[in-house]
Amino acid sequence: MASSIQFIPAEYSRTDQPESVAREMLRCASEDIDRLVDAGLPFDRREGVRHFDVNDLYTLGMYSNSTRTQPELAFRMLFRFAGRPVDDLLRDKAWEFRVQLECPECDEVAPWHFEAPDVVRFGGRLEGGAAPEPSAGSAAYAATVTTTGARTPLVSTELRRLTHEYLDAGYRWQMIPVAMQADYELVHGLGATSCIAASLLLAERFRTAGYKAEAKRGWFCGVLGGALDLPHACVEVEDDDGRLKTVDIAKAQLAARLSSDTGDFQELCLGSIYNKVIPSTASGNASFGHHACGSPLPAQVRADIRSAR
Ligand SMILES: [Zn+2]
Repeated sequence: MASSIQFIPAEYSRTDQPESVAREMLRCASEDIDRLVDAGLPFDRREGVRHFDVNDLYTLGMYSNSTRTQPELAFRMLFRFAGRPVDDLLRDKAWEFRVQLECPECDEVAPWHFEAPDVVRFGGRLEGGAAPEPSAGSAAYAATVTTTGARTPLVSTELRRLTHEYLDAGYRWQMIPVAMQADYELVHGLGATSCIAASLLLAERFRTAGYKAEAKRGWFCGVLGGALDLPHACVEVEDDDGRLKTVDIAKAQLAARLSSDTGDFQELCLGSIYNKVIPSTASGNASFGHHACGSPLPAQVRADIRSAR
């Protein structure tokens, strides 16, 4: 399996997962890890223990075809909804949305900037959601977010053509760190793709074709207990009918890979909106949060999103 996967290049790789985690995620033995290392899986040895990048482990698990690695189980559970009737995805749905902002090694009171949920444009509602007060080290944001859905498929033949051209190009979906995804030319040059990188490239192609388009980040809900921290992005584009559409290109691609009975959901991803996504004000390659303390370390943003009912 390792031969068809592009591992995370050294400049974006963080080998902080010990071999015991790798064996558990991939449900395999030490000899199997030896074989992956021989096939090129990057690692660092610290205190005699091999350490790996979590993105590489996720991607290896996804493509292992063993049906029992943790990534395969997590993705199957996460995308179970995609094989069900899509009407459930078009109803109003309330989420308890909590975010913890952390600025590492920070002891200076300074303002926070948080790219908040931006659901009203798409028929949703927001209760609570006060901007975090200036503070040192950490801050919190909380809101009840109601999302909804609407069938608004792309009508422009050119936008549909560009979208299908991308889907048919055969890029391999991989787990890729957010910072590397911003370098979307590097990602696609490796034959790989992921949500943010795909949206940045597709938005650029839409703009080249004369459309107003922008990649935007958001949150993909229903990721139980943080088992899978899946960065979400989609393309917002103004269609020929004058309406703002969202193209969730990577979810269409992932659903197609995970199961063949997800055709209705894949079509929903091409222009329509659905209630498992909370859009944000952040552009495709921006961070969700920033602390104006002057620290060179980026602020960490952790979201906990649960169904409100
Ligand atoms: Zn700070």
